[in-house]
Amino acid sequence: MAGNIKLEVVTPEKSVVSEEAQIVIAPGSLGEFGVLIGHTPFLTTLKLGIIRYKDVQGAERYVFVSGGFAEALPNKVTVLAQAAERRRDINIERAKSAYERAKSRLEAKPKEDVDFVRAKAALDRALYRLKLAETRK
Ligand code: ATP
Repeated sequence: MAGNIKLEVVTPEKSVVSEEAQIVIAPGSLGEFGVLIGHTPFLTTLKLGIIRYKDVQGAERYVFVSGGFAEALPNKVTVLAQAAERRRDINIERAKSAYERAKSRLEAKPKEDVDFVRAKAALDRALYRLKLAETRK
């Protein structure tokens, strides 16, 4: 079916994307999924990862997402995430600092009162941001 869908990516702080797209591909908890116009409605949680979409001109766009929720409707995809950034808005130096901070926490001795699950999650966010910002120029 021809036509575009509306993509909305929203965090508690801001609207990150509000744009028409030809197709949206997102990292669902049960696997990556793609949405075109006319898709059957569904709701899913998201993993940490990258949302890809094709804008109305056909250019590929990339958005980091820290997990969250997605609602797909026949003509709209809404993503609610704690954090999300378009590729061009990723601050590489900040992500490198977050990576180094998380890495040194993970290298600490267990008795040093470190929340390892939290540090691992921060490390993974930094790695995804760096991968997206640095490798997909
Ligand atoms: P940091 O320790 O640098 O805050 P973090 O992974 O803990 O990293 P998040 O909790 O995921 O940060 O995000 C907090 C806010 O900061 C969100 O609005 C997110 O979009 C933004 N943000 C975090 N890291 C970056 C980055 N490298 N570039 C641009 N925005 C970022």
